[in-house]
Amino acid sequence: RAKQAGRNTFRFYAPEMNADAARRLGLESALRDALKNGELDVHYQPQVSLDSGRVIGMEALLRWHSPQFGTVSPGEFIPLAEDNGMILAIGEWVLATACRQARRWHDLGLGAPLRLAVNLSARQFRQANLEQLVARCLADSGLPASALELEITESAFIDDVDEAIAMCRKLKQLGVKLSLDDFGTGYSSLSYVSRFPFDKIKIDQSFVRDIIENPVNAAIATSAIVMARSLNLAILAEGVETEAQARFLRGRRCDAIQGFLFSPALPAAAFEQLLAGRTTLPIADLPSAGKQT
Ligand code: C2E
Ligand code: MG
Ligand code: MG
Ligand code: MG
Repeated sequence: RAKQAGRNTFRFYAPEMNADAARRLGLESALRDALKNGELDVHYQPQVSLDSGRVIGMEALLRWHSPQFGTVSPGEFIPLAEDNGMILAIGEWVLATACRQARRWHDLGLGAPLRLAVNLSARQFRQANLEQLVARCLADSGLPASALELEITESAFIDDVDEAIAMCRKLKQLGVKLSLDDFGTGYSSLSYVSRFPFDKIKIDQSFVRDIIENPVNAAIATSAIVMARSLNLAILAEGVETEAQARFLRGRRCDAIQGFLFSPALPAAAFEQLLAGRTTLPIADLPSAGKQT
């Protein structure tokens, strides 16, 4: 009630800045029905090994096609869903849907057993019994726990580090993998990261974008790779769009990449076609990845 009144008051007193606020309200109410109206869809973006050039996994990325607003980017609607709590229902649906899909691909024998990565927002990460929800999605789909990777950003930890570490441990006990998403955008230090049972670090695309031109970002990406190696974690770079970027990353022994160079996120059917075609990233031109440690 109070929240409702507050919103109305805001709308009433701030008409001049209302384009944004009105869109937000409209999106919020449209999103409320999006799930049951079947407007949400999960797309899959391949993750490619810099060793073999093969697809080793995929990240599930949520898509929303609203009849009223058209295609709305997750960057816009996920934060809304976080604020009003809808992310819990939506996130559960994404996890269940993606697990079932990954299991189907396993059954079809597509790819070497592919690892499915699913994003968890801070709010989801803090929900009680998250590990039970994950366990249920695995059991219902029949996807092996080791084929599931949960991507978490630093924002999920900042409130209560000990609590977050405890939740990470519970998830790890299920047998799932954990990765730290958007690395470099927060404050994560070596000592901080080493306290968490991560399996992988994902270098944020903001550093990858101008990795060739910008020595600072090149240094950040390189030190992330060195850090991951020293902690014995896998390392993947996001947002790789050019061969030059892939070459740079491979030369510094980054394990894997994800980005438009290989493929954007695709609807399930298109992703399946891509796998069936056994498409690989041509890495012959790239320098060798060096000895793996
Ligand atoms: P993220 O988890 O860091 O996902 C990577 C984003 O980078 C995706 O944006 C992807 O489409 C985009 N991307 C991949 N390769 C390239 C590239 O080469 N160039 C560029 N410019 N972009 C690339 P998207 O799908 O718009 O998602 C944005 C964010 O929304 C995600 O960032 C994630 O934080 C969140 N998100 C998406 N789906 C879900 C979901 O199911 N649950 C939750 N909690 N968050 C989600
Ligand atoms: Mg992610
Ligand atoms: Mg990311
Ligand atoms: Mg992101």
